[in-house]
Amino acid sequence: MIRIRKTSPAPEVLLTRGGRARADLCARYEEDPKGYDSGTKVFVFNAGIYGHPDVRNVLMEAQHAKCAFCESKFRHIAYGDVEHFRPKAGCRQVENGPLLRPGYYWLAYEWENLYLSCALCNQRFKGSLFPLRVAKSRAKNHRRRVRAEEPLLIDPGGDEPERLIGFRREVPYAVANNARARVTIDALGLQRTELMEQRRERLTLLWALRVVAESDKPEAVAAREKLATMVQGPSEYSSMAKAFLREPSRRRTVAARKKAGHLGHSGSGERKAQQGRSGRR
Ligand SMILES: [Zn+2]
Repeated sequence: MIRIRKTSPAPEVLLTRGGRARADLCARYEEDPKGYDSGTKVFVFNAGIYGHPDVRNVLMEAQHAKCAFCESKFRHIAYGDVEHFRPKAGCRQVENGPLLRPGYYWLAYEWENLYLSCALCNQRFKGSLFPLRVAKSRAKNHRRRVRAEEPLLIDPGGDEPERLIGFRREVPYAVANNARARVTIDALGLQRTELMEQRRERLTLLWALRVVAESDKPEAVAAREKLATMVQGPSEYSSMAKAFLREPSRRRTVAARKKAGHLGHSGSGERKAQQGRSGRR
């Protein structure tokens, strides 16, 4: 996950049609709060507003055509879902816990609350899950302030995900055992098999490029240039790539040790260090 900066203003459709729809939802709630709180009445949302092509296009650009959570590129066959960070129609504090109605209905058309997500992150994992550090602090309707909440899920638009989620090879982990990072990795399935395979493939490429980049071959310059693009936002799994390139390579580690007189040749010490790193995966 990387930081998403929505530098463009909210698309017009959210301000006009979205603004009117929000006012209508709030008025309906005021008419029968108990009905909506109990779930006997449910809101109907207009996907034509929050999922409008203008909204999708601006999000697609801000997110570099990648899922807001897992950083997988959207393929031509799957353009991604417009996902509500705070679920619009009911939420859960814990997986398989009770669905808390009515959800964050007043944020259904709110620019800050919208992201593009792949179907797996959105549907199979996050769904209506929205845990808070203190469950009681939840804003249950539009009269309450969401600013009083402390969400456990990392918000790619408001937090700095890369300070909280690190990578050991292709495996994401919670930096300093951060609780929000642990919950986020688990809730979004960031260690799911398919995703790990994709990242592993990317890692193989990074590895190969780094070997060439550190060599004396004529291709080294091109390899360094390619590596430089792979850590940029538009590249798939760039947060993992950055973490990978921050690690000292075997070649550089051995050279540094030789220089310091710790190693006569590329010997067992380095091999043990490599094995130790693998063992912590
Ligand atoms: Zn995803």
